[in-house]
Amino acid sequence: MPVFDYAPAPESRAIANLKDHYKPFINGEFVDGSGEPLKTINPATEEVLAEVGTASVSDVDIAVKAARKAYHTVWSKMPGSERAKYLFRIARLIQERSRELAVLESLDNGKPIKESRDSDVPTAAAHFFYHAGWADKLDYAGYGPNPRPLGVAGQIIPWNFPLLMLAWKIAPALATGNTVVLKPAETTPLTALVFAEICRQAELPPGVVNILPGAGDIGASLVEHSDVDKIAFTGSTDVGKLIQRQVAGTAKKLTLELGGKAANIVFEDAPLDQAVEGIVNGIFFNQGHVCCAGSRLLVQESVAEEVLDKLKTRMATLRIGDPLDKNTDIGAINSAEQLAKIRELSEIGEAEGAGRWSPPCELPDRGFWFPPTLFTGVSQAHRIAREEIFGPVLSVLTFRTPAEAVEKANNTPYGLSAGVWTEKGSRILWMASRLRAGVVWANTFNKFDPASPFGGYQESGYGREGGRHGLEAYLSPHGTAK
Ligand code: NDP
Repeated sequence: MPVFDYAPAPESRAIANLKDHYKPFINGEFVDGSGEPLKTINPATEEVLAEVGTASVSDVDIAVKAARKAYHTVWSKMPGSERAKYLFRIARLIQERSRELAVLESLDNGKPIKESRDSDVPTAAAHFFYHAGWADKLDYAGYGPNPRPLGVAGQIIPWNFPLLMLAWKIAPALATGNTVVLKPAETTPLTALVFAEICRQAELPPGVVNILPGAGDIGASLVEHSDVDKIAFTGSTDVGKLIQRQVAGTAKKLTLELGGKAANIVFEDAPLDQAVEGIVNGIFFNQGHVCCAGSRLLVQESVAEEVLDKLKTRMATLRIGDPLDKNTDIGAINSAEQLAKIRELSEIGEAEGAGRWSPPCELPDRGFWFPPTLFTGVSQAHRIAREEIFGPVLSVLTFRTPAEAVEKANNTPYGLSAGVWTEKGSRILWMASRLRAGVVWANTFNKFDPASPFGGYQESGYGREGGRHGLEAYLSPHGTAK
């Protein structure tokens, strides 16, 4: 089938209002951090976007003190109905500045503008709207009367959904009366610092939100700080384990949202064209930099050939290139390190005997790029079936019976998400009750809603984000807060 040639439709980068310098945000002010400044680059071109001041360990202490003061003097005392007004304001300001945020996110992260514009930024605003609604109803959240905030939350987020992960962390913390010190990822600090401007625009009291760009050591010193009451982390399982060890034996509460190796399971009775769209969305959305990505396709043997044919045809239509082009489906890999990891695991897949396939596609000369790739003939022992690749790489396995599908899907140390494609409602329920995954999507994939709790089992972490359940991570039911 011929593929249409689309004329370029680039979004203007001027909308991002990119500045030469960005600074850490402490106690309501942009301050010169005493860490070594970093340069953040556009992964699609490798050009430097801006210089960003970073925090040092002493800045962590200053930020935690500011957050503690704001907690005691203003935020924990404020009625929920008043806190809600700030969250509503922030949500509205995210909407007002949505184009700017979307373009900036695509520049700094490499994701296609259609995803930052239609998914990341609106979902971030939705989290603030949703949690604004909870702020004055916490007595009815099921955690007893008058649940109390915990105090100061230290929050560490990754680079795959920079603004959205910030919203997942900050919105519930503020709604429940906690104050925040947040560290964005080193490679994607910019939208978090525009969010800091939004906090100022919303006239959020100083110290309620503090944002500290910096490397992993700043995250570690936030975790170690003795006056932090709660740590919320999203990122790799390895760092999650380190944090768990650091927090063990302290009174700090901890939630961990870590990696995944989700099974996307297609039965022979599934609507196959729809399933193929779900497979593509499951693994190629955000270049596969998604903790809940459907990176293991389990397809029933009787339809495996047909599904693979359809999938290859569909993959050949994916457009890779300029993240700011509105027609782009797959953007740039976020960093040279991540690209090296994807390449290495893909080479291991080939060396272990799996069949590698990518559609013919031209990759830009500069920047970090990887074509959409699938591996067939994958066995459960292969590393590409067991390890999180965190890139646009799909491992295809087959099964014969529902019981075999469950066994293979659960044969992983992770347990974040799964997908089931079938026309039988009874089979969906049968599968969902047996799959060890925090989220099971049926006849769809990668659907996110602030009202729906998200989180994992086993090495995918613990605690839930979103929904009523997500509030629990920031509340003390027995009034034991500092
Ligand atoms: P990391 O887990 O290293 O990074 C996540 C966040 O933690 C970043 O802000 C990072 O800072 C910070 N951090 C790093 N070390 C520490 C530490 N010792 N204590 C506290 N905070 C720390 O993930 P990577 O970016 O290195 O990605 C590596 C792999 O992790 C990916 O290939 C992927 O498999 C997985 N991953 C999973 C994610 C998920 O959503 N579950 C998200 C991102 C990655 P800095 O950015 O400065 O290093």
